[in-house]
Amino acid sequence: MIDVRLTAVSKRFDKSSDAAAVDDVTVTIGAGEFFTLLGPSGCGKTTTLRMVAGFYFPTSGQIHFGDDDVTHLSPNKRDTGMVFQNYALFPHMTVAQNVAYGLRVRRVSRAERDRRVEEALAQVHLSGYGARRIDALSGGQQQRVALARALVIRPRTLLLDEPLSNLDAKLREETRTEIRRIQRESGNTAIYVTHDQAEAMAMSDRIAVMQSGKVQQVGSPQEIYYRPANAFVARFIGRSNVLSLPVAGAGENRVEVRMPDGTTLEVGAAPGHGLTEGDTALVSVRPEHITIAGGEDEPALRGRVTHVEFTGMATNLTVDADGTEVMAAVIDAPSSINVGDLVGLRLVRERLWVVKP
Ligand code: ATP
Repeated sequence: MIDVRLTAVSKRFDKSSDAAAVDDVTVTIGAGEFFTLLGPSGCGKTTTLRMVAGFYFPTSGQIHFGDDDVTHLSPNKRDTGMVFQNYALFPHMTVAQNVAYGLRVRRVSRAERDRRVEEALAQVHLSGYGARRIDALSGGQQQRVALARALVIRPRTLLLDEPLSNLDAKLREETRTEIRRIQRESGNTAIYVTHDQAEAMAMSDRIAVMQSGKVQQVGSPQEIYYRPANAFVARFIGRSNVLSLPVAGAGENRVEVRMPDGTTLEVGAAPGHGLTEGDTALVSVRPEHITIAGGEDEPALRGRVTHVEFTGMATNLTVDADGTEVMAAVIDAPSSINVGDLVGLRLVRERLWVVKP
């Protein structure tokens, strides 16, 4: 097991332009960690992964696998196993021939090859499928063959670029659990690229959220969900309200904000938030941390319901609170709530979080 370190890595495809596809990225991926690069289309995640694989070289910065500087090493000298969105399997070969490919290239003996192919197929729960044709397999099975092909060379790192995008929703969920099991068992350091935040949250030890080539935040799924660094991360991960509220006071880890009803509320904040009285704070509030105020509760916000949507687990409400649109996901909401109703909303104070713009 090895760690993977990116130090101030940038990639410019067009040297004459100011825009970098990947802009000064520094992250350390721990040995055996499942690490995800997450962000919207075009944010630079694939380019970052391709630099780790060696398909692109950085314009500046270094990449290390453990103590080895691999920045300018060709892909076949890095011992990485790659899994792609479109599987990139050879359709005219059998499952076993596909999995054996990397071993043939490395001139591993026939007997050893057969043994390791069997072992890799067992790892992905496809024992006995070796003689099948690729086009006689389902999409999920093909993706597992692609995983076996990456694992069979016993790579130092496993790199996965949107490997589930071609699968339907149910198979996607099953296969993500499967990928995580296989990665745990093989002990590989894995770097995973996706634009699907639910997938990233479910699979990862840690996530780097990227936007415009830059890493916006690195953290565990819980850290990113409950303590987003900025408004972009708050809105990109799950759904979030970002309320602009005047600051009435501040401490190192907290900010006191004034609610529309005049009361003040203490909200958690990262040290170095830099806010003082008179500033405007951006406060992230998850829809599920908003409840409907009962008889004796003082509501923090009041407004008119503009949309009601029953999802089974919760009722999603959109409320217009003095021109600010607030999304709430209320569990056990009274079924009598309708568009046009006036409601009071309470916020679960411990879950509010101050974010940077
Ligand atoms: P997606 O989810 O759509 O694949 P991404 O986050 O993986 O997006 P990248 O593919 O890394 O994003 O692209 C980042 C930026 O670099 C984009 O603006 C893209 O147009 C540009 N880019 C990527 N590859 C090349 C290339 N080979 N030549 C020139 N520009 C490129």
